[in-house]
Amino acid sequence: MVDARYNVVVIGGGIVGLAVAREITKRFPALRLLLVEKEDRVARHQSGHNSGVIHSGVYYKPGSLKARLCVAGAADMVAFCREHEIPHKVCGKVIVATNQQELPRLEELGRRGEANGVGGLRLIGGEELREIEPHASGLRALLVPSTGVTDYGLVSEKYAQLAAAQGGTIMTSAEVTRIHRRPDEIIVETRRGAFSTNYLINCAGLYSDRICRMAGDEPQVVIVPFRGEYYHLVPARASLVRALIYPLPDPRFPFLGVHFTRRVNEKVDAGPNAVLALHREGYRKADISLQDVVSTGTFPGFWRMAVKHWQSGWSELRRSLSKAAFVKSLQRLIPEIRERDLTPGDSGVRAQAVNSEGVLLDDFQFVCSGKMFHVLNVPSPAATASLTIGQTITQTAMKDLGLGGG
Ligand SMILES: Cc1cc2nc3c(=O)[nH]c(=O)nc-3n(C[C@H](O)[C@H](O)[C@H](O)COP(=O)(O)OP(=O)(O)OC[C@H]3O[C@@H](n4cnc5c(N)ncnc54)[C@H](O)[C@@H]3O)c2cc1C
Repeated sequence: MVDARYNVVVIGGGIVGLAVAREITKRFPALRLLLVEKEDRVARHQSGHNSGVIHSGVYYKPGSLKARLCVAGAADMVAFCREHEIPHKVCGKVIVATNQQELPRLEELGRRGEANGVGGLRLIGGEELREIEPHASGLRALLVPSTGVTDYGLVSEKYAQLAAAQGGTIMTSAEVTRIHRRPDEIIVETRRGAFSTNYLINCAGLYSDRICRMAGDEPQVVIVPFRGEYYHLVPARASLVRALIYPLPDPRFPFLGVHFTRRVNEKVDAGPNAVLALHREGYRKADISLQDVVSTGTFPGFWRMAVKHWQSGWSELRRSLSKAAFVKSLQRLIPEIRERDLTPGDSGVRAQAVNSEGVLLDDFQFVCSGKMFHVLNVPSPAATASLTIGQTITQTAMKDLGLGGG
């Protein structure tokens, strides 16, 4: 017995699932679409706990999905925010080289950004850096004028409204508990009923590998949760940062290093770090889930990753436990920052897919399996790229799954 029949069911009311729902309902308003979200409102996890940066696309390997979807997606995101009057600002950012050894990598980053089609990039000297960010210190910097900030929680809510206005159903408090694959339909059991669908799109973020397995597929990766902890600059010291100040990232990791972000609400954040979390939705250090610890700890890829990266894992942990260590990293960018300038802020947990070789997947990862589509790795800049990710998934699903063809 099912409660209702749909053409498409999307699992996950984060920015990616909602972007997919919005795109499908916009292009195919006659299709019956249901999006199920386990929380009582959308964007409760990664999409509502991030830095809010509209990334330009400088960091990513030319030709990768991240590079293509981020550069186009950033422009679309700015246009979307403008059209729907969502607070946003194209404030630009500086990526700072603080020592001689970093200079070749900074130049390489500039070339990479240009190869990706990011406009207006310019290498600047220390003096010009201080004209742009008077409190920043560095030998040289890459100026990225097209970077911006917005509030991805508000963007997600707008996607949900638009999908619902086109006839889609957004159902919250509807955790998916079982999935049955039948020859001519898929049954999705949730806490609010069982639904039949022709197509299933898994956008479950931190749980996307488990949903994939629940659907009878083997994801080949495990989602390892990395918590990102922030401090806020106290209001009296917020003037230390005009816009966005980033370090040069460690090329071995998909994380960007602790940085300064002036948000759309004018608050200034410092962070996030990237520390292994013991709960996939563990926003506090003390949050532990036995199931999550076991699923990470029994995955051989996790131990291979740990052997390769134990040193940086250890320094992230130290920086998480010691405010002094956190401040020391920030002082590379703004030497005059002090512990008293910072108060503890929010945190977010990144869903990072790791494969059995212990490699942290760098690019977005989408896997089709019959009438199912699994979104298995969409870390940053997926919020920036959400509109173009939504378009790509819709196109691929149409082609591979015959979506909208009937
Ligand atoms: C600290 C941090 C900083 C970041 N900064 C940036 C940034 O500045 N710019 C940028 O572009 N990106 C940034 N990102 C990345 C960006 O936030 C994510 O890439 C994006 O939000 C991923 O969206 P999602 O929809 O895949 O995941 P989520 O937002 O996590 O959504 C997945 C949804 O699936 C639901 N779900 C899970 N299991 C089930 C189930 N069984 N049944 C029903 N629903 C289920 C969850 O409740 C959740 O709402 C950052 C991320 C973090 C954590």
